[in-house]
Amino acid sequence: MIYQFLVQINRVRKDLDDFSHTTDLDKADVILLYVKNEAWGWNTIKTLRAQSQHFLKPILLVADQNFENMPDLADEVLIWPADEEAWFQKLSRVFAICHKLRGLAPLPESLGETSAKKILVLRFLYSREGYVLRPRRNFQSSVGYTFPLVQVLFQVEPGREVAYIEGLQEAQLLTTRLVDKLNVCPRCEHTQINYRELCPHCHSLNINEEATVHHFRCAYVGRESEFRRGVKMECPKCKRELRHIGVDYDKPVEVLWCVDCNHNFSEPQLSCFCLVCAHTFAPEDAFIKQINECELSQEGYRAAEEATLPGFGLLSILKKELGFYRREVFIEYLRIEAFRCRRYRYPSTFARVNLK
Ligand SMILES: [Zn+2]
Ligand SMILES: [Zn+2]
Ligand SMILES: [Zn+2]
Repeated sequence: MIYQFLVQINRVRKDLDDFSHTTDLDKADVILLYVKNEAWGWNTIKTLRAQSQHFLKPILLVADQNFENMPDLADEVLIWPADEEAWFQKLSRVFAICHKLRGLAPLPESLGETSAKKILVLRFLYSREGYVLRPRRNFQSSVGYTFPLVQVLFQVEPGREVAYIEGLQEAQLLTTRLVDKLNVCPRCEHTQINYRELCPHCHSLNINEEATVHHFRCAYVGRESEFRRGVKMECPKCKRELRHIGVDYDKPVEVLWCVDCNHNFSEPQLSCFCLVCAHTFAPEDAFIKQINECELSQEGYRAAEEATLPGFGLLSILKKELGFYRREVFIEYLRIEAFRCRRYRYPSTFARVNLK
């Protein structure tokens, strides 16, 4: 199998620059993974993406069939057997990623582990042009969705990685597009909430819908089952038989009855019960969480190149909270303003303050 690969790659590689084969993972720029068994393939690719030193490497998956989840972690999937044209196409895309990666400086040692991983995520998007980081539905996730690539890198439970992605969104390193809005528990922020209808009088869960019967003669109003006597209907209050609807009685509405306190009502009380932390709360108190798909922003592009995240220093706060401009942008505005002043001959004042 490997031999056949190499023969084909060798033929294709004539058109692609500096390509040589190695089995040493640390030296490899591209990882070619032949997957016959899905479980093995999934584990292997997860192991690769979990390691910072391999995370960015383009992975070309070669398989006899298309596996459902693996494309989230692999860059390209080639269905085997494939012709040379297909090989060439896939390898070209994979090499384009290598090319982008080669232009990047190594991550500075001073970055903490979390920051380094955030930069890796930005660099992943940077090296895959037009890459969209998409959430996948996952019922095991606390927020109902997971970003497999980021989750594997940070090695957290599904859903926990969303906070890291939100951090990058807040720093405006990612642009977003809304995919879903979730109701989450205000106490534990899980999405596993049971919405249920309660009796508004005694808050019992034990309610059911039943027709109301109104006996004209004695004015008794009760649920239909109270009147049933086999095939006949009898008023539980005055014991008279009810024969004709519209003459003896009518059924005004279908209403909800509470089994525990015997009240009837048309609007049940809606209540939320968190299946994770057992917190009970009103639906309007649920938090709304947005799930977005993301792309690299212009700022993110720069952060990926420079391997820096916006800090929490005074300048970042001024920029974020007060809309301060970057120095270069400010100088450009100043130049335009000075030009305008000269042109229309009006005086202007410029003050400079140094913050220490
Ligand atoms: Zn009740
Ligand atoms: Zn009656
Ligand atoms: Zn909860």
